[in-house]
Amino acid sequence: MYTINENYLKLQGSYLFSEIAKRVAAYKQAHPEADVIRLGIGDVTQPIAPAIVQALHRAVDEMGTREGFRGYGPEQGYDFLRQAIVKNDYQARGCDISPEEIFISDGAKCDVGNIQEIFGTDNTVAVCDPVYPVYVDTNVMAGRTGQFNPATGGFDKLIYMPCTAENGFSPQLPKQTPDLIYLCFPNNPTGAAIQKDALQAWVDYANKNGSVILYDAAYEAYISEEGIPHSIYECQGARGCAIEMHSFSKNAGFTGLRLGYTVIPKDLVCNGTSLHSLWERRHGTRYNGAPYIVQRAGEAVYSPEGKAQLREQVAYYMENARLIREGLAQAGFTAYGGVNAPYIWLKTPDKMTSWAFFDRLLHEVQVVGTPGSGFGASGEGYFRLTAFGTHENTREALQRIQKL
Ligand code: PLP
Repeated sequence: MYTINENYLKLQGSYLFSEIAKRVAAYKQAHPEADVIRLGIGDVTQPIAPAIVQALHRAVDEMGTREGFRGYGPEQGYDFLRQAIVKNDYQARGCDISPEEIFISDGAKCDVGNIQEIFGTDNTVAVCDPVYPVYVDTNVMAGRTGQFNPATGGFDKLIYMPCTAENGFSPQLPKQTPDLIYLCFPNNPTGAAIQKDALQAWVDYANKNGSVILYDAAYEAYISEEGIPHSIYECQGARGCAIEMHSFSKNAGFTGLRLGYTVIPKDLVCNGTSLHSLWERRHGTRYNGAPYIVQRAGEAVYSPEGKAQLREQVAYYMENARLIREGLAQAGFTAYGGVNAPYIWLKTPDKMTSWAFFDRLLHEVQVVGTPGSGFGASGEGYFRLTAFGTHENTREALQRIQKL
């Protein structure tokens, strides 16, 4: 008789976004005429930029010719894309990363979820709290945690690093040394960024203690301030302790096309085994999940026209972030983020719980956001709004919130 992976049973009831969808659907059923504005979900809304659409068309046409047809692609992705990534995302920033260290994938979510598989199940894991849920869920499924503990609002054996207004949403170096440390900057959900010297302290800590940092740079394109690193490899010694994951979703609108990459430096060696060689054996190795045409689209992200068009897209979303920040301030809210990230993290008024505030916004002004407590215990009393809407619905949502 077969058995199941019982670690899955430790996962908590319903996923945050299905609970939100359920509450919104119930509200809409009771109020079919309601004009509900969604500023909750982290999906982009702007269409694919023209330079990328042209690259897609060219690649599709190529695939229809005898000379241009491509079958299974190279395991780590096409060289043209890995070269473009290294030149633009690393060499241009003075980082020593080579194309052989880049693994193309069909998005960061799979990579941040699967990367834990190359590590032993006895490793201790540290995550920020609040946190992008994928880091926690995949380690729960792998058996690196104990049960969910209602008293703490987290999983036993997992090291939670609180990120609150008191510490500027930047985690403190933990007293108990973790083996695997997940960091994400600019951060989802708090919108916080990290200064280079603070990130350097993490790199030094990991090198000193023999830990690995799993660095999620999905929102790097939103950094607007000086002194904030775009990559962990801008820090001295990061090649020896850090894996970095990137997405094309939020900088270039690939949430539907699907493209990302992971960097595993050759210096990362554990007891004589290179982590690079382990990741070469990962799931889906032969196809890496990203079709030729999408990798050509990814290459166009780095063309001069692509860069200019995407700068405009990011600026469009960041104008929404400004509208949200200023609108919230005028309405008397305390809010964070939205300067180097498309997320605004606000404190709920009158010490309301995150879900109570969610219901209030939905029922009183028909605006949907994301309850902070859905991202972890330290997110209780906070609420996330995203800058991915249109200017029109963002403005309208803020006008409504000001009437609360
Ligand atoms: N990492 C973080 C922190 C995210 O917020 C997201 C998506 O919301 C992802 C990764 C997933 O990116 P992708 O669309 O490339 O899978």
